[in-house]
Amino acid sequence: MSPVVRFAPSPTGLLHVGNARVALLNLLCARAGGGTFILRLDDTDLERSKAEFAEAIEDDLRWLGLDWDRLERQSARLDRYAVAAERLKASGRLYPCYETPDELDLRRKVQLGRGLPPVYDRAALKLSADDIARYEAEGRKPHWRFKLEHQDVRWDDCVRGASHYHGANLSDPVLIRGDGSFLYTLPSVVDDIEFGVTHVIRGEDHVTNTAPQIQLFQALGATPPAFAHLPLLTGASGEGLSKRLGSGSLKDLRATGIHPMALNSLLAKLGTSDAIEIRHTLDELAAEFAWDKFGRGTPKFDAAELERLDARLMHTASFAEVRERLGIAGADEEFWLAVRGNLNHLAEAEQWWAICRQQLTPVIEDAGFTTAAAGLLPGGAWDHATWGAWTEAVKQATGRKGKALFHPLRLALTGRENGPELKTLLPLIGPDRARARLMGETA
Ligand code: GLU
Repeated sequence: MSPVVRFAPSPTGLLHVGNARVALLNLLCARAGGGTFILRLDDTDLERSKAEFAEAIEDDLRWLGLDWDRLERQSARLDRYAVAAERLKASGRLYPCYETPDELDLRRKVQLGRGLPPVYDRAALKLSADDIARYEAEGRKPHWRFKLEHQDVRWDDCVRGASHYHGANLSDPVLIRGDGSFLYTLPSVVDDIEFGVTHVIRGEDHVTNTAPQIQLFQALGATPPAFAHLPLLTGASGEGLSKRLGSGSLKDLRATGIHPMALNSLLAKLGTSDAIEIRHTLDELAAEFAWDKFGRGTPKFDAAELERLDARLMHTASFAEVRERLGIAGADEEFWLAVRGNLNHLAEAEQWWAICRQQLTPVIEDAGFTTAAAGLLPGGAWDHATWGAWTEAVKQATGRKGKALFHPLRLALTGRENGPELKTLLPLIGPDRARARLMGETA
């Protein structure tokens, strides 16, 4: 059966690298098995969900290349959740409760004081019809709890292995608030059933929701999907994610100019037994995806590692891969191949474009030598062989070799001590500029 997965962010904020990892692994699981990747916006919290966050989430996912096959919004499916809630009420699994938050708080404190776990005591199940009528007359609106079966719930987690929770150790979860709005638990299960989700892939922070959700699947007559709970990312030495690249939003990360495949290459392999290497496409990452490679250790997100990967990717990237981000009008493949190996950051390419194509005041160390060299520049069309032929001629004519030969030429032609190979730069600079610069002219 091909996998159907969903990435289900709440549009109440911006995505960070931890969310990106969950989204990516969902997509890779789908692609590895020729399945479907659903983007589900969990926007039932009408007050905190914002259209601009939903848009930002979609932008970030597109930037990463994580295109979804289907988009769903929970706010458009409230009627489906109401149907499921009625079904649960009819089967006695959803019951009304009238406690105020203060009353619940007090009860929890008493339980803790007695050394008992703060599990909801189901007092609402013992309410008589009269009690309920009294609360209703007072204007209290019920919230609704799902009655858990007090039995062991087991599942074979794709990441954590054999897992279990005993229903008796959990409070019956509130599914519907006093104002009638749904909390996350029920809508998530209803959607997973109705969209045919086969794998719920999410952060470890949702492990405790799993047993109640498995019971909900069963109470609604469905077979629960597989679950994969990923350990949450930390920074390089186990602390909160680093300021520079980690803890900020993906939007900030994107603004640093990092290539999305550098981030994908890192996030796909963090916490797995695979080595972290640059991959140029999501399909390559999907081909390497397998649950048995994932461990339970806490994966560390190291911004320095991301920068290294980004540099490595840039050094091997084709012109087509970078063209858009390069953003230099007129830049072509020849230019990119000439400079890519020398860049620390993509933005540095602009300086080399200016050196090749815009005016520059040359640095002249020995005017006699560079003027003589200018006189020996060959005619005809220039290519990568031009530099070798020309410098050989200059060597013969002047008797110079090594640094004494090359260094003054580089300074005159580029104004820089170091840079990409001159055999690739020279044709880009072209005969007119090269001649003028060697003569000490700004050109
Ligand atoms: N909206 C939930 C979250 O953002 C989704 C959890 C899940 O994947 O089930 O954490």
